[in-house]
Amino acid sequence: MEPRSPERRQVPLPEAETETAATLVPVHLEPVLRGEADGGIDYVCGNCGTTIAEQVNANQFYEFGVICGHCKTLVCFGNLPEGRPLPSGKTVVLNDGKFLLSATVNSGHDVVMAGEDAVRQRVREKGNGGRAFGSPQGRAHRKPQE
Ligand SMILES: [Zn+2]
Repeated sequence: MEPRSPERRQVPLPEAETETAATLVPVHLEPVLRGEADGGIDYVCGNCGTTIAEQVNANQFYEFGVICGHCKTLVCFGNLPEGRPLPSGKTVVLNDGKFLLSATVNSGHDVVMAGEDAVRQRVREKGNGGRAFGSPQGRAHRKPQE
């Protein structure tokens, strides 16, 4: 069976100068992120079209920047939509700051990577004492032991 060809989406340049957000800085020219989706989405640099993330799913990356390994332009994954939960136990939080990457990061198909801003947004939405992480279906009910 022929593998499906991925959809290409651009990762846009930031609208404003962002200094605190997490930024991945690859020191190589391979894609920064690689997923497991058959087909899926290839995210490309909004400036030069170099592949930033390949074979990933939509809704996996929020609120962090990537310096394009080719043209050195900062591009940013968009904000977490209001009310969208970050999956419990499946979210990699990228703390503010720059991270040098010497190799492609492999990401599971259901893993979400999010900058700290996205996590702070979730904490605000849940109120004090709320949990930043959850599943879209709400809290899972544990099956009784047999
Ligand atoms: Zn580029």
